[in-house]
Amino acid sequence: MDNLHRDRLAARFSRRDLLLATAGVATLGAAASTRAAEPAAASAPTAATAAPAGPFTLPALPYADGALDPVISANTLGFHHGKHHRAYVDNLNKAIAGTVFAAMPLEKIIAATYGVADKTAVYNNAAQHWNHSFYWRSLSPQGGGEPPAALRHKIEASFGSVAACQKELLTAATGQFGSGWAWLVQEGDKLAVSHTGNADSPLSKGSKPLLTIDVWEHAYYLDYQNRRADYVNAVLAKLLNWGFAADNLGSA
Ligand code: MN
Repeated sequence: MDNLHRDRLAARFSRRDLLLATAGVATLGAAASTRAAEPAAASAPTAATAAPAGPFTLPALPYADGALDPVISANTLGFHHGKHHRAYVDNLNKAIAGTVFAAMPLEKIIAATYGVADKTAVYNNAAQHWNHSFYWRSLSPQGGGEPPAALRHKIEASFGSVAACQKELLTAATGQFGSGWAWLVQEGDKLAVSHTGNADSPLSKGSKPLLTIDVWEHAYYLDYQNRRADYVNAVLAKLLNWGFAADNLGSA
């Protein structure tokens, strides 16, 4: 550790101890015993500024921040990926530090905490990390247009036409009350459209997600304010990554 770093650490420690001391001796004692009982990295004094150590990392976007403009601006994408998604990853790492979940794959954490009352924070952050990683890949600067033939045949068999499938996605996206997600899913040999609230996804309901549209306000508010339908229609027309959905198709 160089001198500058050591000085910064020392300064941070004295500020922290000063704050604790002015809050009273009882608080200081409690904080000290908590620190002693937690040898994990989560209680290190650098946690406030450095990304917490943990098994999960924020995936890079598969395109540049400005690549989806003007449908989704670089400003929206920067906040959505760099702030919102990053917070889910950081909070997940903090919530699972020193627990059995730290050694589990993401999907297993989601399945193990779904509906478990005292694991809500772990579930919400794990599921949102999964959902957002899936959402980025559901969009493409070259999106919209016609699905690849194999997917198009399945869409036509299940919905009648690609346009009818898009209409169902719009209805699901605008019909989701409050925060959530619209999904194209595979159920056996059929495709279907669904929507879920907050952090939930079709994974917990036994169907296979093919693509998703984030309809939390943070996904569109900077660009569209309250006009969710305009955001969804633009995504459907210009950004939807049918190739990604086709890649996700299972054999049945
Ligand atoms: Mn989001």
